[in-house]
Amino acid sequence: MSEKPRVGIFGMTSCYGCQLEIINLEENILRLLDHVNISYWRLALETPSDPKNLDIAIIEGSASNQEEIEELREIRQNSKIVITIGACAALGGVQGMRNLMNNERVMSAAYSNLSGVRATEVKAIHEVIKVDYAVRGCPINKEEFAAAILHLLAGTQPPAWNMPVCNECKIKGNECFFERKKPLPHYQSRVCLGPISEAGCGARCPSNGMPCDGCRGWTEDAHVKQWIKEGLERNQTIEDLAMLVHRYSGGTKDSEIAKE
Ligand code: SF4
Ligand code: SF4
Ligand code: SF4
Repeated sequence: MSEKPRVGIFGMTSCYGCQLEIINLEENILRLLDHVNISYWRLALETPSDPKNLDIAIIEGSASNQEEIEELREIRQNSKIVITIGACAALGGVQGMRNLMNNERVMSAAYSNLSGVRATEVKAIHEVIKVDYAVRGCPINKEEFAAAILHLLAGTQPPAWNMPVCNECKIKGNECFFERKKPLPHYQSRVCLGPISEAGCGARCPSNGMPCDGCRGWTEDAHVKQWIKEGLERNQTIEDLAMLVHRYSGGTKDSEIAKE
């Protein structure tokens, strides 16, 4: 039998929630292990081996300091395929909002009693190295992750969605937040990002009574300015709308359009 592909799983700046989703695959992780050899995983293996000669590197988190940028370059050199997992890696994540603030102020507010903390601009992984595929979401959907790995191992491309969350939401027959007439409680009253956010989650949040927060990033042709206009017409402030559109892609290049 030929040797199984070698896989490494790496965590950059993140909450580690997407790696935990992989662990949550439970019995399905055993099926995945029929196909791959997890050679490096600091979070889950007692004795991770040398993270070199990998067939697939799986990266969670964003690059937030020089050490992570250098580690990412090494991972790329040592891996045939690089995939990212989660909004932090694909978009910069919540911590990307730091890029919109003064770095010294952030550092003194967050780490005033700590020395040796090094933080630079937050970057999505594709801003540092070439990425072959991104599993999106905060956190990722574990089944979507497992399917993506199997596709990549088979040499096929995992499905691309290229449509907004609204499409999946309509198929599910949800009542649209934009069309509700009676006042909504505070936790439901923020403007739904479904019209500009990439589908693939099955409209998870609107199906459970919450507006979409855009954790999968924007669709390629997202009409962000139109969405902002709709929000202003619904008495939202520009500050609240800016916070919503920047929530997952803060100050990374992907959010440039919203800064205009
Ligand atoms: S995408 Fe969300 S769940 Fe995943 S590491 Fe980032 S913050 Fe955590
Ligand atoms: S995703 Fe949001 S905006 Fe789109 S149809 Fe559903 S509730 Fe309406
Ligand atoms: S509905 Fe929006 S915020 Fe919720 S999981 Fe889907 S893309 Fe993410």
